Amino acid sequence: MPLPCPACKQQLGVDLLFLMQHPVAQCPHCKSVMEFDVPDDVKKQVAAAFKNIEDIKAEYKDIATFGDHKSKLI
Ligand SMILES: [Zn+2]
Repeated sequence: MPLPCPACKQQLGVDLLFLMQHPVAQCPHCKSVMEFDVPDDVKKQVAAAFKNIEDIKAEYKDIATFGDHKSKLI
């Protein structure tokens, strides 16, 4: 999900995962420094969602491909 800079409204080009790993970031456009406080319950939900995705990939790895292995389809 694209996230705009709260100051200049231009796209930051980062997502929730990036902000969880880098809670203090500088806008590349207007140089504003922002601190994103991602609540612990949101972090847990995101971690659970990514684990769920990995579990699904593992379960169907023999019969499906997932984005980064498109060449397998040909
Ligand atoms: Zn900005």
